Amino acid sequence: MIDSSLTELAAALAGRRVSSVELTQEALARIAAHQDLNAFITVDEAGALEAARAADDRRAQGTGGPLVGIPLAHKDVFCTEGLATTCGSRMLANFVSPYDAHVVSRLRAAGAVCVGKTNMDEFAMGSSNENSYFGPVKNPWDRERIPGGSSGGSAVAVAAGMVPIATGTDTGGSIRQPASLCGVTGIKPTYGVVSRYGMVAYASSLDQGGAFARSAQDCALLLSAMAGFDSRDSTSLDRPPEDYTRGLDQPLAGLRIGLPKEFFADGLAADVRAALDGALAEYRRLGATLVEVSLPNARLAIPAYYVIAPAEASSNLSRFDGVRYGHRAAEYSDLQDMYSRSRAEGFGAEVKRRILIGTYVLSHGYYDAYYIQAQKLRRLIAQDFAAALNECDVIAGPVSPTTAWRIGEKSDDPVQMYLSDIYTIAVNLAGLPGLSLPAGVGAEGLPVGLQLIGNYFAEARLLNAAHQFQLATDWHQRRPPAT
Ligand code: GLN
Repeated sequence: MIDSSLTELAAALAGRRVSSVELTQEALARIAAHQDLNAFITVDEAGALEAARAADDRRAQGTGGPLVGIPLAHKDVFCTEGLATTCGSRMLANFVSPYDAHVVSRLRAAGAVCVGKTNMDEFAMGSSNENSYFGPVKNPWDRERIPGGSSGGSAVAVAAGMVPIATGTDTGGSIRQPASLCGVTGIKPTYGVVSRYGMVAYASSLDQGGAFARSAQDCALLLSAMAGFDSRDSTSLDRPPEDYTRGLDQPLAGLRIGLPKEFFADGLAADVRAALDGALAEYRRLGATLVEVSLPNARLAIPAYYVIAPAEASSNLSRFDGVRYGHRAAEYSDLQDMYSRSRAEGFGAEVKRRILIGTYVLSHGYYDAYYIQAQKLRRLIAQDFAAALNECDVIAGPVSPTTAWRIGEKSDDPVQMYLSDIYTIAVNLAGLPGLSLPAGVGAEGLPVGLQLIGNYFAEARLLNAAHQFQLATDWHQRRPPAT
């Protein structure tokens, strides 16, 4: 039953053909059966069953929306009251938040049943999920391969059918890229649409919460419940609530899809290109027209991002000093020694690398040379998108230059790892919404995602374009072997 779509699950719950307790038990059994994938850091069996019983009561009274009783998983970057929030770090391995993130409280209020917290790259820094203190997550399509990162646990939990929906965050691609590499659908909304309150901060001007599900329709239902103004996040946008399912049925005839020529050039693997060509041909059959657009500064997105994100991270992570909360070294000689030992022990190698880069680019003498330059590039990149979106309704392109790579293949080479983010991070720098949908398979039968990028607040349009494709194709319904 748990493999059904959210709409089917909601109908079955409403019609009393299944209970939330039964669905939750099914989810917990799947999680237990796939422990080798290491998708979860914390599983909350007792809390989930209690929430499921409450959801069944609510269903019996006939109140609530489509998410009442639906099992879901949260990326472990979202604070959950009474349940560990580790952010994939030793620093927070024993941290239990005294409050819920905005996203968590909204989904709790919507009646969704949280079964646990998913594994992730430490402090959301990574593209492969190999940076977690709790060990790497495995890709269910091939357990020797990475699932993508940093929200790899959430992508795998959905791909392997442990939960129908999961939350994630995307600072430079962390929803879209694991969605692509695991064959699920994922959406990162416009910056400011989902509150960052209670979401452990990595790079605050880029971080944005979003949704994973098997289909665009299910993502639309989840996003409708997650999004909304929150006065506790100063960058939360005060806009009327949206129903992201409202435009799903609109036909695509006349839709202009822009293909950035820089995205279909050197560096894109031939098998990924072939799969994307097939998907774009399908869009043409659905009535869309394809136009070439240009993002001339997109190639500068990686250097700009890997200055801005570490700069913000070095500031955000300075709060972890062993004093207020988080890891504190057991032995130290004085206050300075306590700070330095706590941070040396609490943070992993990639987090330390980013803090060092961040403090360097912000330091006197280098600020103008690196940080200010990166901010100027950020503006140019946003202007490129604005110009391109004048010529088309949505932009389409790859998510990742290759399909999922082998565990260990890039972990010794940070620059190679950073380069894998080439197609996703420009979107965060511009603050635009982006979506990844399963669009085909590569040479080894591994999933390939197509990225759709829209103008500010064009989430409903992206979801519509993805939904129409999913009505005509079955890539999103394919399941990894033995799941
Ligand atoms: N791979 C990028 C990074 O390591 C993006 C991560 C993210 O979106 N959280 O920063």
